[in-house]
Amino acid sequence: MKERVELTGLSQPEIVSFVEGLGEPAYRGRQIFAAIQHRRLRSFDEMTDLPKELRSRLNEAARASSLKIESRYISSDGTRRYLMKTNDGLPVETVFIPEEHRDTICFSSQSGCPLQCTFCLTAQLGLLRSLTPGEIVEQILIALNDAYGDGVKPPRGTNLVGMGAGEPFLNFDSLLKALRIMADQSGLYIVPNRVTISTAGIVPRILDLAKVSDRPHLAISLAAPTDVLRNELMPINKRWPLEELLKACRAFEQTLKPGERFTFEYVMLAGVNDSEEQARQLANLLNRHSLRAKVNLIPHNPAEPLPYRPSPDDTVTQFKNILESKGIHTYVRRPRGRDIFAACGQLAARQETLNACKELNTVGVGN
Ligand code: SAH
Repeated sequence: MKERVELTGLSQPEIVSFVEGLGEPAYRGRQIFAAIQHRRLRSFDEMTDLPKELRSRLNEAARASSLKIESRYISSDGTRRYLMKTNDGLPVETVFIPEEHRDTICFSSQSGCPLQCTFCLTAQLGLLRSLTPGEIVEQILIALNDAYGDGVKPPRGTNLVGMGAGEPFLNFDSLLKALRIMADQSGLYIVPNRVTISTAGIVPRILDLAKVSDRPHLAISLAAPTDVLRNELMPINKRWPLEELLKACRAFEQTLKPGERFTFEYVMLAGVNDSEEQARQLANLLNRHSLRAKVNLIPHNPAEPLPYRPSPDDTVTQFKNILESKGIHTYVRRPRGRDIFAACGQLAARQETLNACKELNTVGVGN
């Protein structure tokens, strides 16, 4: 059977040419784009403003959705984690994080991850495959429908972070395509200024992003101030060591526009990368490369069976104070959704220990 076209991953002009190929007028394409991306309908049968005969032809040639929600977990802090499955049965995880001013959705760019960061549970899955643009967009459609109700407009807009499973810069073209679809005014209308993408440091793609005008904010995961330690914690460092990475960061920083955010992330592992000496090394490293980017300290989220513990609060504060004293703006990120394995580095399609707070395909708050 011919593979059906995934319409969630097509831009509005692409859907228009797709329907024209079926002998339909252009306005039908615009109508279908809005049905998927603005009304967040997940099947052609729900698009009752389309002629029945067209709906049945669409069902044969295309899909309006491909991910299925497998389970949903709700944290005591309101964070929601969705474990979904692709068409071919692979896990995809997405996290909805309610916040005071504007809610955030953390999406995945790959099923599993090929990088072998020793402090991250996703690494244990290995790479299953990169997600398609449609699968990236769909995660957001599903999370919004669940959190606010089907098709209900997010009351205060939505922020996105590409910090779920996978390395976004190893799926660069699909990522940018998905972000452009989501930025469309007649669809989700989530503009790049509301999006932050985190990379472990794929240097050529950082340089590529520097040339993209409609780009999201960028965050770089450091986790160590020296090559010796970073090689151990993030083996990708052997391919692109700190010197090369920070040179690319400097080049990127020089292309920043007013209001654009560029940050470093540093996961705090007790007794491993959190000493006063390491804080000074980190500050000197960033200052030596004339980088002005802020540093986000992320307390490690425990993820059995990984051999790490989070740094104690006073160690984190001391680390922050040293960075600040050397002119580096530093924030400490508050962990969210740890109890449901929804926090950074905890996404590994976990199902087994969580039955207590698991609700299968139930309807979300807001309905
Ligand atoms: N591959 C990308 C995006 C996913 S990780 C990257 O490496 O940036 C998103 C962030 O979570 C990264 O900064 C990573 O260092 C951090 N992280 C990974 N495992 C973690 C854990 N167990 N606790 C806290 N942060 C973690």
